[in-house]
Amino acid sequence: MDKNNLVDPINLKTIVDFALRKGFVYPGSEIYGGLANTWDFGPKGVLLKENLKQAWKQHFVYQRTDMLELDAGILANQKVWEASGHVSAFADLLLDCKECKSRFRADNVIEDQLEIDVEGWNLEKIDNLISGKKMTCPKCGAKNWTKVRFMSGMFETNRDKINNSVNILTEILGKIKNGEIYLNSEDIKNLQDKLETQEQNRIYLRPETCQAIFVQFKNILNTERARLPFGIAQIGKSFRNEITPKDFIFRVIELEQMEIEYFFDPEKDNWETLFDQLLETMQTFLTQKLGFNEKNFILFEHPSEKRSHYSKKTVDILYNFSFGFKELWGLAYRTDYDLTQHSKFSSQDLSYSDPQTGKKLIPHVIEPSVGLDRLFLATLFEFLEDQETRIVLKLPFNLAPYKLAILPLMKKDGLKEKAEKIYTLLRKKGVKCDFDDTGSIGKRYRRQDENGTPFCVCVDYQTLQDETVTIRNRDTMEQKRVSIDDLEKYGTVGN
Ligand code: ATP
Repeated sequence: MDKNNLVDPINLKTIVDFALRKGFVYPGSEIYGGLANTWDFGPKGVLLKENLKQAWKQHFVYQRTDMLELDAGILANQKVWEASGHVSAFADLLLDCKECKSRFRADNVIEDQLEIDVEGWNLEKIDNLISGKKMTCPKCGAKNWTKVRFMSGMFETNRDKINNSVNILTEILGKIKNGEIYLNSEDIKNLQDKLETQEQNRIYLRPETCQAIFVQFKNILNTERARLPFGIAQIGKSFRNEITPKDFIFRVIELEQMEIEYFFDPEKDNWETLFDQLLETMQTFLTQKLGFNEKNFILFEHPSEKRSHYSKKTVDILYNFSFGFKELWGLAYRTDYDLTQHSKFSSQDLSYSDPQTGKKLIPHVIEPSVGLDRLFLATLFEFLEDQETRIVLKLPFNLAPYKLAILPLMKKDGLKEKAEKIYTLLRKKGVKCDFDDTGSIGKRYRRQDENGTPFCVCVDYQTLQDETVTIRNRDTMEQKRVSIDDLEKYGTVGN
């Protein structure tokens, strides 16, 4: 891919200001002071997000003959996460600055400052490295660190309301306050039992959507008569207790993922060919389905020592965000690791029987996984243009939240009523359109340019005489007269 003449991305602050000002995104629970790094999607954000999902489904599911879908729950038996390895290994190295109380991922700060990769090191060795090398806090410059700890990346909840850890701690604190500091052996046993019950009742919020695909693999085989090779696709929420969520919706703690597990028999299908085909499909999705400029992404293959232990090959598509080329989409060949793990932990036979030969095998799998929130952010970076006279969100037609905006030239003389009639009729027909009668017509055009609306429809005096309207093209700003009857076509397929 030729990366010469790279387009300079608009900066993140401009994107954030734009998204908040236009109501694509709102800060989460803002009226209560917010909750750090949580975001809600506003009316236009919902529509854009939905359009991204639909484009993904069209490209990866509906237009193919080898894809099925799943919509699994966020909550699952905790054994799922023991089998997947998340309980023991989905954790980050946490490091706090004692002076300014900022919190960091230790491996990131060490890599940035000392250029040392500490993957696989134990905590003591990392602590020694930090104190020996006098690493400084990136925020305040102090050299006063806590010890490094592991922090689980999974959020958890518990259905047992009585025996939860808050209640248990409250009980202990109560005893301390009342002067009953000494806990006798019966008390200790009691507390241990309660904690054990809590341990058993622990429920994790899923940190990735894909595990449910493996867990439901046998059911899907049975009910759908699926034949290898085939893929299972899923869109859904995941939760990650990120130490340093940042860069707006790039790294969040509640995210939405669009994942596919593509199953195959490694003796019949060459994994490298399938891998390349999927990678190609991901790239054509970005360039053809979404209209991204291919100069704005690059491929990055993980070196073998950085790959997850179960992966034979991982390639990321990195997008040209203003804060660097960063992972947008991951493609990993996960071998038969997940199905084998779930077979072991559940003691269930999750193998596939070849209908022709009767051969039994655990299928191998290749996984393309993309975060919808990150794709949403990349879409804003890709299409927001700050032109000299106006700001335009040059979304392709399929992504635009509203396809048409109906604008009466004046509020008087029956123009508003006529425009409202047209608007209601088009909405009833399923056309995604907006209505705006506030401010001058020029201002309203600008507003819709920022919304990404491809066409503005102006209802004027001539409309009342001959049932025609002017239609303005967002990108060329050219206007022409069309019949009201043609608007449905403009609103559903463009022009
Ligand atoms: P990163 O290295 O950025 O933490 P990852 O390699 O852990 O990402 P995966 O586990 O492969 O990510 O998840 C698949 C996709 O989900 C990523 O490519 C990304 O688009 C998205 N994703 C992962 N974590 C987050 C997050 N905290 N916020 C938003 N999107 C995320």
